[in-house]
Amino acid sequence: MSTADSFIPFARPDIGEAEIDAVARAMRSGWVTTGPETRAFEQEFASYLGGGLEAIAVNSATAGLHLALEALGIGPGDEVIAPTLTFTATVEVARYLGADAVLVDSDPETLNIDADKIEAAITPRTKAIIPVHYGGLACDMTRILEIADKHGIHVVEDAAHALPATCNGSLIGQLQSAVTVFSFYANKTMTTGEGGMVVTKNEALAARMKVMRLHGISRDAFDRFSSKTPSWYYEIVAPGFKYNMTDMAGALGRVQLRRLPDFERRRQMLAARYFAELSDLPLILPARAPEGQTHAWHLFVLRLSDEAKATRDEVIQGLSDAGVATSVHYVPLHRQPYWRDRYGLAPEQFPVVEKAYQRMFSIPLFTAMSDDEQARVIAALKSVVR
Ligand SMILES: *Cc1c(COP(=O)(O)O)cnc(C)c1O
Repeated sequence: MSTADSFIPFARPDIGEAEIDAVARAMRSGWVTTGPETRAFEQEFASYLGGGLEAIAVNSATAGLHLALEALGIGPGDEVIAPTLTFTATVEVARYLGADAVLVDSDPETLNIDADKIEAAITPRTKAIIPVHYGGLACDMTRILEIADKHGIHVVEDAAHALPATCNGSLIGQLQSAVTVFSFYANKTMTTGEGGMVVTKNEALAARMKVMRLHGISRDAFDRFSSKTPSWYYEIVAPGFKYNMTDMAGALGRVQLRRLPDFERRRQMLAARYFAELSDLPLILPARAPEGQTHAWHLFVLRLSDEAKATRDEVIQGLSDAGVATSVHYVPLHRQPYWRDRYGLAPEQFPVVEKAYQRMFSIPLFTAMSDDEQARVIAALKSVVR
């Protein structure tokens, strides 16, 4: 099938020969679990963010979020505040620890968690706020950090969409939050297949998360096999998890990280072209980052405006008929049976996200997408969105 009539997927990882060579090298080295590649990836990731922090590689962002909440001592009876417009991973980790999630509505423009509604959701049980930089646009972190400070609660950033994004001139990962967690899932802005990176400036939290990442062993396998202490000796200090990254993933991540500036430029270009081409349609285009700030453009989320005649589902069907895949980010958590029933949630409690959800759809934006493919997405939207 030629590219002209092939189906355009919602996302496709951008993996080249350099990545394949790096993974093959890791496999041939004889060290396939956490080892020198993962160590180097952690150091390079920390430098990419500008240094002054610890970067801890894990096998998913979900694992990283779990480690963060565990290290902060979050447990039964505690509450964490998070947006309802997110993936379930953001809050399922609170339930792993016996804590509960308090879901909050979004700001109508950015669709990020509404800072005013965070303050209203705080109770004596609140231990943390987990903002999500929706689509790659940083939340109002100045406000959120102020609120957290005032109430003595922690901030754990779910930065799964936000590599790289800036907030007031600082890269996400460099703010004063307790922990920031990035995802390298297949469709994120860079990938290790499955994987994530936990970042913190707090040494005690870093130490706890490193121990809990690998069974509660007080030193990880690489140290054991390379340092002078007897290689057979280790101590278990807690019932930890199995969240370490493989060296194949670490090797892949190192190459992707080197390509990240090119990925970033490509995403900016693709987003700019969508803005230029879609402005005349009855659509609400995504909020842009303030002047001089970086939007990571993990997602390009459109909403049908009040003037649109077609429904969201008709648009998605029309695009599919034209060979263009779409997605919806997200079915809000308050509509998901588990969260809805556990907390007795109703759509009326989340008017902004409800209105957005009825009209939203995400269109393909990935670095491996060609200009021709993007032209086909634009042409399909022009014929389907009325
Ligand atoms: C992808 C994603 C996650 C989970 O990332 P994994 O690496 O797949 O565990 C968490 N939160 C959000 C908002 C995500 O998009």
